[in-house]
Amino acid sequence: KNKKLIAGNWKMNGLKGALSEIEQIAKQLEAFKDKGTFLICPPATLIAGAKALAGDSLQIGSQDCHSEQKGAFTGDISAEMVADLGGTFVIVGHSERREGHAETNATVKAKANAGLGQGLKPIVCCGETLEQREVGEAIGFVTQQIAESTPDELSKDGEIAIAYEPIWAIGTGKTASTEDVKEMHVALRKTLVEKFGERGNSIEILYGGSVKPENANALLNTQDVDGALVGGASLKAESFLGIVAAL
Ligand code: 13P
Repeated sequence: KNKKLIAGNWKMNGLKGALSEIEQIAKQLEAFKDKGTFLICPPATLIAGAKALAGDSLQIGSQDCHSEQKGAFTGDISAEMVADLGGTFVIVGHSERREGHAETNATVKAKANAGLGQGLKPIVCCGETLEQREVGEAIGFVTQQIAESTPDELSKDGEIAIAYEPIWAIGTGKTASTEDVKEMHVALRKTLVEKFGERGNSIEILYGGSVKPENANALLNTQDVDGALVGGASLKAESFLGIVAAL
């Protein structure tokens, strides 16, 4: 795809002072408008503040949403609440939520559906452990995760993206080799086309796991890599923009 999606996941980082990074990112993205779609998913506490500074060049999203629209779910936020603040994307099924909050493929699919129902674009995450990779189960496990975690159907204007994030590459400074990334993304493309037909070809497949300015160009130019989901390097304007500059 000509236009890549570069997404930042701030995780549980960022107090209100961090909004100055959003301001800087938004300002400097003006120059890259035609090259891609840019997104930051700050903690829920900063979504409104970030949106107020983001302008037209930067999208703001959430790191999660509940599968239900509202009700007695203490501590959760709904897709409608995200949309209400001007959010346009929601990350679902990040490995940190699958592990730390016992989210199953079925939970993740329900959350993706909730996001679509509110006009958000869900980024559905997948990824294997180091052990699974070492015993040769990575491709089978990850493609099954995506087959089971994505909505059964996509309406005419319902859009999703996928993010492949090998768990062993998250926050470790280790990135998958471009050969391994290519092999996985090609397998994921096949899974998406099997499930969604021709539509599967237009679903962006992002790579995530220790993406930084130095490795962004090689990863973004790998077959079937349509963008990046960036953790640590998205927290500072300088490093996030360094990745954008690799486009
Ligand atoms: P890092 O870029 O910090 O490795 O995190 C990747 C990630 O989990 C993004 O969702």
